[in-house]
Parts: sequence; C-alpha cells; structure tokens
Amino acid sequence: MYDIIIIGAGTAGMTAAIYARRASKSVLVLEAGAYGGQIINTPDIENYPVEAHISGYDFATKLYEQTAALGAEFAFERAEKIELNGDVKTVVTPYNRYEAKAVIIATGSSNRKLGLPREDELTGRGVSYCATCDGSFFKGKKVAVVGGGNTALEDALYLSDIAETVYLIHRRGDFRGDEATAKRLADKQNVKFVLFSRVTALIAEKRLTGIEVTKNDGTVSTIDLNGLFVAVGRIPENRKFGNVLELDGAGYAVSGESCRTITPGVFVAGDNRAKEVRQLVTAAADGATAATEAVKYLNTL
Ligand code: NAP
Repeated sequence: MYDIIIIGAGTAGMTAAIYARRASKSVLVLEAGAYGGQIINTPDIENYPVEAHISGYDFATKLYEQTAALGAEFAFERAEKIELNGDVKTVVTPYNRYEAKAVIIATGSSNRKLGLPREDELTGRGVSYCATCDGSFFKGKKVAVVGGGNTALEDALYLSDIAETVYLIHRRGDFRGDEATAKRLADKQNVKFVLFSRVTALIAEKRLTGIEVTKNDGTVSTIDLNGLFVAVGRIPENRKFGNVLELDGAGYAVSGESCRTITPGVFVAGDNRAKEVRQLVTAAADGATAATEAVKYLNTL
C-alpha cells in the first residue's frame, strides 16, 4: 500500500512526486510511455524561470533524475482504471493492481487529429504530430504545419531551419499563440502563411504528396507537400477515470485551484485539469499543489 500513486510522469506528475517524497510519503509513479510527457517534444524552452534555454528532453531528464533520487518508485505501466474501496484506491494496470491511500491523476493530454480520411494510415508516411521527432526527415523538402497555437508556431519556426518551404495553415487570421513567435515567423523568407483556410483532404498514394486546402470563402486549392505537421491542440486524458472525476464539456477534470476532485483522496494536476493557463510552469505548480493537498488528506486518515 503506497501513500500516493501518481498517474503520469510528466512535469505535473514528477513535481508532485518531489513534493510528496519531501513530505516523507511513499510514492509510486505510473507512466504508460516514456517519462517527460508533452515537453519532451519541445526543442527549446525559453519561458521557464531560471533556465533561459533548455531542451524539453534535458528538462525532462533532469526532472526524472531529481524525482528518482528522492526515492519515488516508477513503473512503466498504463493505468487502466481506478477502483474505490472505502479509503483505499486500487490502480489497475495490465500487469498489476497497486493500492494507495491517495491518487494524483496527472495524465496530461494527447494529440487532437484533423479527422480526415487516411490520416491514421498516413501517420509516419508524411503525416506527423511531432516536428522535433520527425522534422529531420524533411531536410530541404516542402512541409506544412496546421494550427494557430503555440505548438504550431513553434513547430513552424523549428521546421523553417530544416525544410525548403513551410506553409502555416490556420483557420483564422489571428494566432492563438504568442505574438512574438508569430513575428519571428513572418520574418522568415521560407515561411508562407495560408490563413482563413482548413486542410480538407490528404493527397497520397503510399505517402503523402499534397493536401487540399479550402478557404473559408469556399475556394479550394491544392499544395504539393512532402510532410504535414498537425498541431491543432490536445485532448485531455481523463477518459479512463470518469468514475472518480467530474469532467467539463471539453473533458477536462474540474477541481478548483486546490486540485481536489469530487472523490476524496483523488487529485488532479497538469494539462488534464480544467484551468486557464497550460504552461510548463503551471504544470509544475499543479504538481506542488496536488501533492500538498494529498499530504493534508493523508493526515486526516
Ligand atoms: P491550442 O493553443 O489549443 O491551439 C490549437 C490551435 O489549433 C488553435 O489555433 C485552433 O484554432 C486550431 N484548431 C483546433 N482544432 C482545429 C481543427 N479541427 N482544424 C484546424 N485548426 C484547428 O493548442 P497547442 O498549440 O497545442 O497548445 C496547447 C497549450 O500548450 C497552450 O496553452 C499553449 O500555449 C501551450 N504551449 C506552450 C508552449 C510554450 O510556452 N513554449 C509551447 C507549446 C504549447 P483556433 O485558434 O481558431 O481555435
């Protein structure tokens, strides 16, 4: 029986583990993939206090090392569900059943897809959701990024140093992402903005060769491409935990600033929580809050 099981080894989950270990609580961190979460795909973090520049990979590795050195246990298994039995929470994975007095759900979010025919089949054959993972395959080639948030802007900037041409396709005229990044993109000779437009079809035989783009006025055109990077936001990973969470209309877990949920002893931290700002620093802040609240809860048992 652990004091706290943390589901998700991203920034929120690992920060929660640091706070819980420093309060001398036993901690198991469950992670379905690799440690680090979403930030691992960011080439250069420029907005985290103290470090002016650090890669997402280095950030995640340092955080993992700090967390493990404090004595948090890790198991690389996917949490499939949480069962409640009085005050005991059982987290079920394909291999084990782990018990804890408190659980922090820090599962983050996954890529939203465009929902186009053949999108899944062409993933890895010209369609990608990760510019830093796959960008190097498109050296000197033509690529497009779709989306208008910080991910799309940063992906386009990153790809502009690799690809011959980068089309940035966005359904509106204004970007949701930072103005400063949009200005840097506008100064790039090889970045072309395709605004008020949506990708409406993928053109391919075995690999992607182009896309169909439809402007908001209905005009349809095609762009020849080698790669399409989809960056149209993320979907909160709360679906397996609906029995212990209240979800808002978009699927985010409702918690308030305390990170407490409707289930006593179950907390939520990071990008899967309903909140205004989803940044690295707010993920870390959530981890600290959720662990502190979990420790308070344990002291009441
Ligand atoms: P996001 O901010 O939610 O932006 C998603 C973008 O995709 C929006 O521009 C949206 O258009 C567009 N979109 C959504 N569905 C679409 C569809 N079906 N077809 C076409 N376009 C669609 O997502 P994100 O860029 O992944 O960022 C997620 C969060 O992480 C944000 O809070 C962001 O600031 C943060 N982030 C921060 C950093 C950083 O601090 N360095 C880096 C990356 C991400 P509309 O604008 O028209 O809605």
